[in-house]
Amino acid sequence: MFRQSLLWTSCLALLVAPAAGAQAQGKAASKPAASSFQKLGASVETRTFKNGLKVIVWPDHDIPNVALYNWFRVGSRNEYPGITGLSHFFEHMMFNGAKKFGPGEFDRVMEANGGSNNAFTSEDVTVYQDWFPRTALDIIFQLEADRLQHLAFNPKVIESERGVVYSERRSGVDNNNEGALAEQVQATAFVAHPYQFPVIGWPSDIESWRIEDLQRYFKTYYAPNNGTLIFTGAVTPAEIFALVEVSRIHI
Ligand SMILES: [Zn+2]
Repeated sequence: MFRQSLLWTSCLALLVAPAAGAQAQGKAASKPAASSFQKLGASVETRTFKNGLKVIVWPDHDIPNVALYNWFRVGSRNEYPGITGLSHFFEHMMFNGAKKFGPGEFDRVMEANGGSNNAFTSEDVTVYQDWFPRTALDIIFQLEADRLQHLAFNPKVIESERGVVYSERRSGVDNNNEGALAEQVQATAFVAHPYQFPVIGWPSDIESWRIEDLQRYFKTYYAPNNGTLIFTGAVTPAEIFALVEVSRIHI
């Protein structure tokens, strides 16, 4: 389930097109030396903080931009009947306001600072992606820290978003032959395994999960020791590790 699937598809096309060209040309070109690949990953640094949060930084100063991928080890495999679809619901709720930045502010502030974002949920993981100029590093830390520490659970917003997710289900599964078939195949293939649950959730569960379910889920699976922040771009590991400490991005 991608938050902005059209955008993502077009991004993928842009990424794939040059890669395909490079592959075709590569047949004639000589193979890069193994040592260049070793050198490529040599600058990656990883640190696990006291609270269990893992941070990986890969500096790349070719352009003054940064990519942040915020991974959580939670997906539909962590759900059970009654709360199926909750992982994906958080993919929506994480953009619906926290303490400092209200509903819609995450996107507005990010875009005003030249950044963009997306997110996706699978059976195994939920991932939030930010792409932004280096100059926006501080504000991105503020945005992420706000939603990670103080995500809002406003009943009105939850009900509104419940409707959004239900309509996503209707268009992607209930009114979509391919989606409906895929859901039935998965539910049949995985008889005694949580992979049987659709990532979007069963209709009866989307209708009935409660605010306490959301709060418990967030506390359990969005804990720092269940997350990994991955940065790549025009940054140094030292500055990112320092910013993680100072901003208390994920306490
Ligand atoms: Zn969605």
